[in-house]
Amino acid sequence: MKHLVLTAALIVGLASLASVAIAQEPVWDANTVILESQKLTDGIFAVIPQGANEMADKGLPIATTSGFVVGEESVLVIDTMLNKRLNAQLFGLIRAETDLPIRYAVNTSFHGDHSYGNQYLPDETIIIQHGAASEFIGEHLEADKMFMIKNFGEGRGIEDIAATPANILVGTNGQLEVNLGGVIVNIRDYGFAQTGGDLFVSVPKANVLWTGNPVIAKAPALPWLLDGQLIETRDTLEAVLATVDAQTQIVPGHGPVTGMETIQWNIDYLNAVEREVKAALAEGLSLEQTIERVQLSDFQGYALFGWVHPGLNVPAAYQDLR
Ligand SMILES: [Zn+2]
Repeated sequence: MKHLVLTAALIVGLASLASVAIAQEPVWDANTVILESQKLTDGIFAVIPQGANEMADKGLPIATTSGFVVGEESVLVIDTMLNKRLNAQLFGLIRAETDLPIRYAVNTSFHGDHSYGNQYLPDETIIIQHGAASEFIGEHLEADKMFMIKNFGEGRGIEDIAATPANILVGTNGQLEVNLGGVIVNIRDYGFAQTGGDLFVSVPKANVLWTGNPVIAKAPALPWLLDGQLIETRDTLEAVLATVDAQTQIVPGHGPVTGMETIQWNIDYLNAVEREVKAALAEGLSLEQTIERVQLSDFQGYALFGWVHPGLNVPAAYQDLR
């Protein structure tokens, strides 16, 4: 796999994390990923990259997930993929199950691997986004594309992406219910979860939840606090845990289908970071000393640990708690 440079500090508007480390990490290749659909219950499908189970067990980074919900009258799709190739695969998987119109597409965040495929949606598809995601894309798409090309490589179809505005925006702490005919889908902002423009999508009567990036994958994968806000992120995940049925199947942003224990794992990790960084601050340690100190051996095993923990999450906590 090609080694690409993950330069979180280049994300526009991230002055608070200007000091994050730059690490070289392998990421997935959008030109080779194969998507598969997985039926969760009648009319409800997760879309998961091939090999995701084995990769998740090894803590390896996995390509973007998706999913779709089929009602009696129409279909809703969750996330639209990074490029034309993956978007076409996703639509092929939907068409293998139903001929009903794909009336709604929800983006769980502005991140390109969840939203760039919007431009390949049929004209009749209504795009639903968080207001903050829409604003970000409106202001920063070209810079975001450059950042994504740096991370995912040239020639992955990112160069072709043009702005495709959403049709319905969900506001801060807002939620929306969409009726597909006999099936209600809930689309909800639970608070800052990774970007401040994050939407969780659920089918409450079937106990299925799509999280997008705020929950990357089951343990040992860890959250990526690209935009900081450790405490808010933890509080949001606690709100999800308190609201959603304990038996819910979760489709995380980058891993195989999992359960609510994965949300608890994320909360436990964020609590541990908070506790340890607070202790370091109480001793007057610098950011560098804090990164050195806060190793959290109980939470290692994720292939990106060496980047995401000392490079993003500890600095975010240090900034938040100082
Ligand atoms: Zn993602």
